[in-house]
This record gives sequence, structure tokens and C-alpha cells, in this order.
Amino acid sequence: MTLQEKMKKELKSKRIFELAKKYAYEYIDGMDSMDAFPKEETLRLLHHFDESLKDESSSAEEIITQLHQYGSPTTTAQSSGRYFGFVNGSTIPVSVAAKWVSDVWDQNGGLFYTSAINSKLEQVCETWLKDIFNLPPSTVAGFVSGTSTANLCAIAAARFALLKKQGWDVNENGLMGCPPIRIVVHDQTHSSIKKTLALLGLGKKSIEWIPTDQQGRILVDQLPKLDSNTLVILQAGNVNSGAFDNFEAVCTQANKADAWVHIDGAFGLWAAASKSLNFLTKGIEKASSWAVDGHKTLNTPYDCGIVLCKEKDALISSMQATGEYLEYSHQRDPILYTNEMSKRARAIELWATLKYLGKSGIDELVTSLHKNALTLSKQLGSSGFKIVNEVVFNQVLVACENEKETLKCLDNLKKSGTIWLGGSTWQGESVIRISVCSWYTDKSDIQKTIQTFIKARNQP
Ligand SMILES: *Cc1c(COP(=O)(O)O)cnc(C)c1O
Repeated sequence: MTLQEKMKKELKSKRIFELAKKYAYEYIDGMDSMDAFPKEETLRLLHHFDESLKDESSSAEEIITQLHQYGSPTTTAQSSGRYFGFVNGSTIPVSVAAKWVSDVWDQNGGLFYTSAINSKLEQVCETWLKDIFNLPPSTVAGFVSGTSTANLCAIAAARFALLKKQGWDVNENGLMGCPPIRIVVHDQTHSSIKKTLALLGLGKKSIEWIPTDQQGRILVDQLPKLDSNTLVILQAGNVNSGAFDNFEAVCTQANKADAWVHIDGAFGLWAAASKSLNFLTKGIEKASSWAVDGHKTLNTPYDCGIVLCKEKDALISSMQATGEYLEYSHQRDPILYTNEMSKRARAIELWATLKYLGKSGIDELVTSLHKNALTLSKQLGSSGFKIVNEVVFNQVLVACENEKETLKCLDNLKKSGTIWLGGSTWQGESVIRISVCSWYTDKSDIQKTIQTFIKARNQP
């Protein structure tokens, strides 16, 4: 049998897909009892992948079985309700199912002519997202791998627009000898912003750094005088404390000066979708660009990020680097709105997730993450732990009596298997960082988490 014949047989017989489905179901059924992060001895299973690439083709069944046998146990239980690490979302069932269907389609989401369905669903998602976040009608969206890339696209658009206003085409002339642009960033900005600024030739020394308050919010009275050459970068959801900048106050000043405001709202922009939390995002519609993830708060599968930009021309021109539009078809060509060419048709799962939840479901999801964070903070507080931040969204920063106890407790928590979370430093103090990001977290997960904390504190 030739390799082609072998593959056609596998495709038509569907046996490996049935096998994959069986293993996926086993995984789903075992989720509640699995460790939040694999223990040392489980991680040893990864050695099974240490093999040299054979000359001959391997069996498809064996590959899928190997993956399940040694891969499934060594995964992070991100889909469970007890993984509180970083700011990592779970997945909503219909989103995974939609991804399965689209995986078989294997669409290149770059163009209308490579995937009409992705192009259509990007357009639908763009409209829905503008509605959810209450953004200006002129806003366009690009669908990217995550907020890191969304920040990159937005800040490239800002750079293009700020220089264009001064008669400088950055695509044509580059940055050498360009008119000055000012970058105003606060000291609690996310690392992806610093990375983006460096990538775009806007190094750290050219930044005007603004101090923040105890929660990590920009001190508005410390803002310098803004002008039309200025880019201000704000944050909806501090990655540690979950705090939100005062968008209303900063954007009002920025709009008067015709400055560009970009908001990194990776997980926090979704507060806008919650009736009880949307006070946190008041004024976001006055900014010029926004970055947000689907894969965190909204619980879409990885990878899913969105760049939103009020000026279509700025985003498209900066992403195409031609200084003009390239209309490839009379339909939406996704490639125009991002730095990527070939790309995953990720709007498919995003569409499925948004449609499934509906506006009230998104509100319920976002609000529930906050409620769970509040419950955790209250119960940990009454169990003698210090809660270091104001729990305004989904982040809870926890400390013990002293630094040494906090680090010991964190170490024990990580080894527990019951839950997983990371550490950080906040205002110079070591903290245990809880990020509530999974729709799956319920009362029993919260109870288990509290008990695990108490046990971890009492253990040597
Ligand atoms: C997670 C995060 C990012 C980066 O987003 P990715 O999706 O991981 O690329 C940027 N900013 C903030 C505030 C974040 O929480």
C-alpha cells in the first residue's frame, strides 16, 4: 500500500477519529478527578516521547493512543474548575465541538477565497463584539492568536496614524529620522506591551512612565500634558490585581488633545458585558484601539485574540505596509486586519461561543467568575489569610503571615494536585495569585480550594 492509499483509508474508515473521540470522552469523564497540574511521577510519562524519528511511517492508531496514554495525564486541567494559574480560560463545550468541525474543514482563514465561512463569521463577530463592548460604529476587528498580537497590531496602527498626522509615512520611511511621537505608559503595564513597544522600535527610554496607585491603576493626576503626537496605553484588568484604569478621565483628556489611547483589555474588557461590572469599563468607547482575548474570560478554545481599532485605515495601512488598501475580494479579507497571512479560522469557535451564550449568558459567565473570586477571597480572609488586593474582577492576591509562610504555602499548593496557581509579587510582597477563569468552577471546587489552602498553610 502506498502512503497515499494508507491515508485515504484512514480518512474514509474514520477509525482513528472514532478512537480520538473515545479518548476525548475518557478525558472529559476523568476531568473531575485529575490533578490540576500533573505530579512529578506523572510528568515522567513524558519520556515516552523521547524517541528518534523512524524512517518508516508509524501507525495512526498507535500515535493517537500514545498521545492519550502519555499526553492526557500530563495535561494541565485547564478545563476543570480547579486551575487558577496565570489568566487561563477553560472551554465551553459547544466551542470545542465547533472547533472539531472546523478542524476537519482545515480552513486557511486568511482570505475570502481561502475560507468564505471564516470571512463571514469574522464579519458577524466584529459586529457582535462592537455591540458587546459598545464601541464606535467605525470600529473594525482583526482576529489573531491572542492579546500579545492584538496589542502589536493596535500599537502598529497607532504608530502609523500618529506619524501620518505629521506627514510621515512610516511604511515608506521607517522610523529613522521620523517626527517625534510620545508614548505614555504606566508602570503596571503588561509585559506584552513592553515587548510590543520594543518590537515596534519604541524602546523603553522613549516612554514617559506614569506611576500607579496601590491597586495598579494609573494616577490620572500624574499624566503629562497630552498632545496629538501621543499614544497613551491603558489597561482593563491588571494581570495581578485585576484593577481597571480610569478610562473616562484619561480618554477625556486624550480626546481633547487628539491623542491615541490604546486599551489592553485581554481579560478585563469583558467586564463591559456584565451589567453589574460594566462600571469598571466606563469610558472605553472613547479610546482608539482595544485588545481582548476570547481564550481567557470568554472561555473559547486557544488561540483566540481580537484587535479592535476605531480607524480602519490606520489598522489596514499598518498591517499591509503598503500605505493603501489592498482589496482582494469584494468580501471581507481577514488578512487585511492582522499581521498574519495564513491563519487559523478562529472566528468559527468565537462565533459559536458568542451565539451560544448570548448577551445574557456572557453577562452571567463574566459575573460568575467575579462572584467566585469574591467568595474565595471572603472565605480565605475568614480563614486567616490576607487578601492583598481589592477583588474588583476575577483576580485574588493572597498572602500568609509573612513572606516565608506565603512561599511555603504556595509551594505546597502547587504540589497538592488539587488546585494549581502561581505566585507573584505585589507592592514588593510575595503573593499567591488566584485567577478565576473557568466557567466550570462550582461550589465544591471553591470548598476544595479553601481546604487545600488551609492544609498547605499548616503543612511544613
Ligand atoms: C494575557 C494578557 C496579555 C497577553 O495575552 P495573550 O493572549 O497571552 O497573548 C496581555 N495583557 C494582559 C493584561 C493579559 O492578561
